[in-house]
Amino acid sequence: MSVGRAAGADDPLEAGAPRLRLASSNPHKVEELRRLVRSVIGQRAPRLEVESLRGVAGYRAPAEDGADYRANAEIKMRAAAALFPGEAVLADDSGIEVDVLGGEPGVRSNRWATGPTGAPLDGAGLNAALLARLQGVPEDRRTARMVCVVGLALPLPGPETPRLVFGFGAVLGRIAHDARGVGGFGYDAVFLLEDGRRLSEVAAAVKDQRGHRGQAVRAVAAALADWAIGAPAPPRT
Ligand code: IMP
Repeated sequence: MSVGRAAGADDPLEAGAPRLRLASSNPHKVEELRRLVRSVIGQRAPRLEVESLRGVAGYRAPAEDGADYRANAEIKMRAAAALFPGEAVLADDSGIEVDVLGGEPGVRSNRWATGPTGAPLDGAGLNAALLARLQGVPEDRRTARMVCVVGLALPLPGPETPRLVFGFGAVLGRIAHDARGVGGFGYDAVFLLEDGRRLSEVAAAVKDQRGHRGQAVRAVAAALADWAIGAPAPPRT
């Protein structure tokens, strides 16, 4: 995606535009991150192209074995940055923290429960597992939050190592008694905002505005826009 105009023959941008690589191949995350970047810095940095890791030959998702969200965001960021020199890289690590479970599943939100054969569960399976864990827990003890940390690597001129910037976002809510709604992904179908609506039931713009990922992206937006305004295009691939 380019949020800007096409470069013409005599255009100084002919060599291409600066590029941001979203360090994810999760289509839902990519969609949200793309939308957020476009809305948050699109006006300031219309030249910026935004690409993901979907379909990139040679990319293998790294093990997310960091101790916290920030460490995992950095692992994903560095894996992508190694493949795309000259590009800015934005990675995200997220999770859901349930108070009555002592903040679990937290950083292990994608892998805290498995199916009967030990296979990883998909979003619907994880929601069912979470609802089962919370069976019988009353309304006032179902408080939770969704958390997101984004890590941004901004290449610097010459041999300098990239500048790293991190952003944090969290939204408070509760875990519902069932899964519902068609919007969003992952735990959105069981996560009730304070107004009683689920993240899966609100418009995308509302999730962006109030949600954990929108907050985290806005925290790094100025650094990304400043970089994009002055950055050269990456080498051709
Ligand atoms: P990860 O950041 O890709 O490791 O995601 C951790 C877990 O949280 C996965 O099960 C995701 O589906 C889920 N998840 C990540 N972001 C969101 C979100 O915005 N809403 C609901 N669930 C999410």
